[in-house]
Amino acid sequence: MAERFDLAVLGAGPGGYVAAIRAAQLGMRVAVVEADRPGGVCLNWGCIPSKALLTGAELVESLRKHGETFGIGASGITLDYAKVIDHSRRSADRLCKGVESLLRKHAIELVRGRGRLAGARRVEVTGERDVDLDADFVLVATGSAEWVPPGVEVDGERVLTSREALESRRIPERLVVVGAGAVGLEFAYVYAMYGARVTIVEMAEQVLPGADPELAQVVQREFRRKGIEVLLATRFEGVKRVNGGVEVAVHAKGASTGLAADQALVAIGRRALSGDLGLESAGVSLDPKGFVPVDAWFRTSAPSVLAIGDVSGPPLLAHKASEEGIAAVEFLAGVERPALDPAKIPACIYCQPQVAWIGKTEAQAREAFGDEIRVGRFPFTASGKAVAAAHTAGFAKVIAEPRFGEIVGAHVVGAGATELIAEIGLAMTLEATTEEVARTCHAHPTLSEAILEATLAAEGRSINF
Ligand SMILES: Cc1cc2nc3c(=O)[nH]c(=O)nc-3n(C[C@H](O)[C@H](O)[C@H](O)COP(=O)(O)OP(=O)(O)OC[C@H]3O[C@@H](n4cnc5c(N)ncnc54)[C@H](O)[C@@H]3O)c2cc1C
Repeated sequence: MAERFDLAVLGAGPGGYVAAIRAAQLGMRVAVVEADRPGGVCLNWGCIPSKALLTGAELVESLRKHGETFGIGASGITLDYAKVIDHSRRSADRLCKGVESLLRKHAIELVRGRGRLAGARRVEVTGERDVDLDADFVLVATGSAEWVPPGVEVDGERVLTSREALESRRIPERLVVVGAGAVGLEFAYVYAMYGARVTIVEMAEQVLPGADPELAQVVQREFRRKGIEVLLATRFEGVKRVNGGVEVAVHAKGASTGLAADQALVAIGRRALSGDLGLESAGVSLDPKGFVPVDAWFRTSAPSVLAIGDVSGPPLLAHKASEEGIAAVEFLAGVERPALDPAKIPACIYCQPQVAWIGKTEAQAREAFGDEIRVGRFPFTASGKAVAAAHTAGFAKVIAEPRFGEIVGAHVVGAGATELIAEIGLAMTLEATTEEVARTCHAHPTLSEAILEATLAAEGRSINF
């Protein structure tokens, strides 16, 4: 006999567990089915453990680069990478248990096992106990997994994805990172700071394809200064194991060549976990890449099935998954609210220099509003706080449309970028103008003054630059 729920959520990642909590707050009886550990990729194999490693890398760099400046003798520091891996695993475990307790607190039934749709309102779970769940609505939040090109064999020893790297306790002498997206850049930075000689291979003409090129240029320059080799317009053609290491085949400027290394880390994309879920037989269509197309309220082609997070398509970000989860269940509960605006989802990369952006790039803004757009820039070399903290690389750039000066995008590269972007997110939600942000008193000395100064610059009245 099936158990009955108002909502059955497939997957307890940042999309699924957040949606479940919001649905419970709205009075629904909710079950969450999870095949692995609550928290999903984000808590277990993504955002959280990688940020633990990045914090270590940042500390190493600060001591090495600036120890002398601040009177700290750091010439004899020793590095034990296994310890930072331990810390990252402990952080993931702790937060994963936190999610379990949140689900309990909200009286959400956590069903451990693999779920599959058997019709548009039934989920069959195979796991600790096999059980069928009947629900008025099913929310698919099964996320994504690493995409590895055909012919590439991931062995976890010499050829890794981020998944294996997050458990690998040794730093190779030479590492090739394939892909200069967020994951590739973050791992390249971590490994380089812990002592590996790192080469990044990227097919596009810039790192972070799709990002404002000015941001990418700063990252490229700073990475090269740190000794990281960045090969752009270079196509990855495959990787093979050779004695003791790997050879990564690449193609650039019309010629193919091999890069020798101890390990290769492949970070060139992710694929939706939409297979074997019974989606198509439940009437849910998939796009050619396997993502689940949804409307503005995350409804799929089957009326009682919704999909959110990575499985419903890019950008593949934890906060996007959570916001979509909340919007989807609020829609089901009849809460009056605006639909999510994809233009207001920030993107953040946590290497040093950090990178963050939201809204339109300068090129997109010019295309949408013409050359009259207002663009204000402020370099961290002119920021009192950045100078005092010895973190002067990078800048903040704010873009506004020409008529009212409403902010339509912001791009920050440098220390603190991932925190600074939240102010612009709020400004864009409130449809604020550069004038309004410029009239907001920002504490001194803070890195947030870079946002203030960029808006002043957009208004043509910079003070400190
Ligand atoms: C190395 C790395 C670093 C990252 N860093 C960041 C970052 O800093 N910031 C950021 O915003 N994003 C980051 N991401 C991306 C982020 O992790 C994902 O966007 C996010 O986890 C997606 O959330 P989700 O809920 O859609 O899916 P997931 O987190 O993938 O969760 C899906 C869950 O569903 C479960 N599941 C799958 N199939 C079934 C089934 N049939 N039955 C039951 N359960 C099932 C899975 O076990 C999983 O727990 C990173 C990703 C990686 C790989």
